[in-house]
Amino acid sequence: MPRKISAHYVFPISSAPIKNGIIELDDNGTILNIIDPGKELKEIAGLEFYSGILVPGFVNTHCHIELSHLKGRFAEHTGLPVFISQISKARVADENIILKAIKKADLEMQNNGIVAVGDISNTEYSFFAKKHSKIKYHTFVEVLSVSPENAMAAFKSCKNLENKFSDIGLSASLAPHAPYSLSKKLFRLFNEETKKNKKTVSMHNQETASENELFINKSGDIFDSIKNMIGVDFSHFKPTGQNSLESVSHSFPKENKCLLVHNTFSKENDIVTANGCFNKLYWVFCPNANLYIENKLPDIPLFYKLKQKCTIGTDSLASNHKLSVLDELKTIHAHFPELPMWELLKWASLNGAEALQLSDKMGSFEIGKQPGVNLISNIDFNKMLLIPESKVKVLVDRT
Ligand SMILES: [Zn+2]
Repeated sequence: MPRKISAHYVFPISSAPIKNGIIELDDNGTILNIIDPGKELKEIAGLEFYSGILVPGFVNTHCHIELSHLKGRFAEHTGLPVFISQISKARVADENIILKAIKKADLEMQNNGIVAVGDISNTEYSFFAKKHSKIKYHTFVEVLSVSPENAMAAFKSCKNLENKFSDIGLSASLAPHAPYSLSKKLFRLFNEETKKNKKTVSMHNQETASENELFINKSGDIFDSIKNMIGVDFSHFKPTGQNSLESVSHSFPKENKCLLVHNTFSKENDIVTANGCFNKLYWVFCPNANLYIENKLPDIPLFYKLKQKCTIGTDSLASNHKLSVLDELKTIHAHFPELPMWELLKWASLNGAEALQLSDKMGSFEIGKQPGVNLISNIDFNKMLLIPESKVKVLVDRT
């Protein structure tokens, strides 16, 4: 007997919302049918009706689960350069503490209706949790090293970690950390490797104003913090006179899907430039982390106006209080209520699933998919807005 669930609205995402829509699912959560009951809600045996809207399981396109033990460790609003300099020291901890925090974070994401995650990793700590989780993880092995002499060693160690993820059956690819943290040589090695495959890549982008300053005239806070790192020779760095993204975007293979993360200081010209460099570009917004670190939000309505494909990330618990995609959407709606709710829900599901190459199974309510079903309750139905009281409950898990 298939399970039949309904609510005030069903948001299939790949098609228009259905008032009082009904989703039929089998025991594995695979969608058998989506029914528009028309104007009259008929009595249907065994129908579960919920107050709120039904949406597919969320896709979190940016997390660092291995930093979960750093929750609450850093002061807010200190800016990215300070944050980065704190992380590298603080992340070293007892292995049991790290593993426990990863497991807890994985469960938190499941309970918040997240079914897939694009997760940045520098270590093997997340192997076990990812292997045994209900969440489908794609790991972005982070490539970073500013010294050209260290480029080959850094590349080999990243490739080695990527292979280890693949060897235990986990999906993984290489991802440059940020425009400023790879030497040209390392970018070249990354590019040569990545253009051989069709894997999705990712990079932090324009998270702080000083990132552009560094590339334009070799000054600013990011420049100072790299220059002052012990054992790092940054004398080879030549400013390009262009913004950070423009300076490095040619170092990516055009055909691979690319997620650019944060974009807090990206302007219209950056968006136009990026569209010329990537054929399949996805922007990731992590508004709660942006407020935590820089106390500034990206110009998200501009991306909507320019019809960009956007997705949602939580970033890590080092820079966020929760790992909840819905909480990120609530923050966006609190600041930009003009953005339509159906568009935000698409960013949180189908766009993310597409970016992580999981949209054959997840991201929308379509027959044959197994996307998970979330109930969002406490919505302002008059304005079609998510409000601070909006809550998510998992009705159907992915098995
Ligand atoms: Zn990040």
